[in-house]
Amino acid sequence: MAWQHLQVPGAWLQVAAVALGLSLAPTPARAAELVVYSARHYGGEPAFDAFTKRTGIVLRIFNGSSPELFERLRAEGERTPADVLISVDAGNLWNAARAGLLAPVDSAVLRANVPAHLRDPENRWFGLTVRARTIMYNTRKVKPAELSTYEAIGDPKWKGRLCLRPSHYVYSQSFLAALIKRHGEPRTEEIVRGWVANAPVLINSDTKLLEAVAAGQCDVTIANHYYLARLVAKDPTFPVAPFWANQKATGVHVNVSGAGVTAHARQRDPAIRFLEFLSSPEAQNLFADQAYEYPVNPRVAPAPLIAQWGEFRPDDLNIAAAGELQAAATRLADRVGYR
Ligand code: FE
Repeated sequence: MAWQHLQVPGAWLQVAAVALGLSLAPTPARAAELVVYSARHYGGEPAFDAFTKRTGIVLRIFNGSSPELFERLRAEGERTPADVLISVDAGNLWNAARAGLLAPVDSAVLRANVPAHLRDPENRWFGLTVRARTIMYNTRKVKPAELSTYEAIGDPKWKGRLCLRPSHYVYSQSFLAALIKRHGEPRTEEIVRGWVANAPVLINSDTKLLEAVAAGQCDVTIANHYYLARLVAKDPTFPVAPFWANQKATGVHVNVSGAGVTAHARQRDPAIRFLEFLSSPEAQNLFADQAYEYPVNPRVAPAPLIAQWGEFRPDDLNIAAAGELQAAATRLADRVGYR
């Protein structure tokens, strides 16, 4: 097996490291081995295997949640065995960069493969897959013509018909941060007050939001597109469809899963090579399709299941805003009572 999958709760690791008196890197990484901390949780990653086949470089993958991996990298400091951090949501990548955990990478390949708005302006992280957070509706109860913008979900006609992800989750925070960047705080506050006035049912999972819409518990929600794609892959009659929001305005809110080379990487050059490979058409076809995400590389087509939903105009705001305005987003949600 080319790489190993370990579920590593942060607390367990700490205890184990203390008990054994060991660094978490028992042996120095060999030249042909890269250590990857990954917060992606979407099943196998055939693109990783393809990298090993192509280069002979073995990947040691450690999985954990974004906060777990962040804390682990920070606690390990310069002793970290990790060469690469892969995380979901630009807000998490931004946090890692701000904490000094990622080093800038000057790569013409990454600049060519990753659109400028989906990478760090200071080159410490790069989007690798794109997720669209848009309006989703029950196809038996709502006509697309009734929908238009995120803001219009605050119209009183949706009262009692709305489900939302709670505000504290990073997907919600990044979405609110993008709204603030686009509209400013006062206008965003009005928009979110509209949603709150519609008494949304708050559900702590995008999949469960979509199931609630399908079951008729609510008629519309806002969710990441690939969760719907997975449900539709299992059941083509699943009665929920995406509506591409804000097409005449700012575009659909998009976010990324992405990666950076750690500040203390021992294998910096192979780590850069790994990121370059993941952004290449060969890997993008595997990497994005497997989880029904959109490829970040504009030269690669999305999987047929999501391509059937048609093209949309994404918001081309630099997604670093998700991090920069995260704290403002949290305060705004508190002010307006969006729990
Ligand atoms: Fe997700």
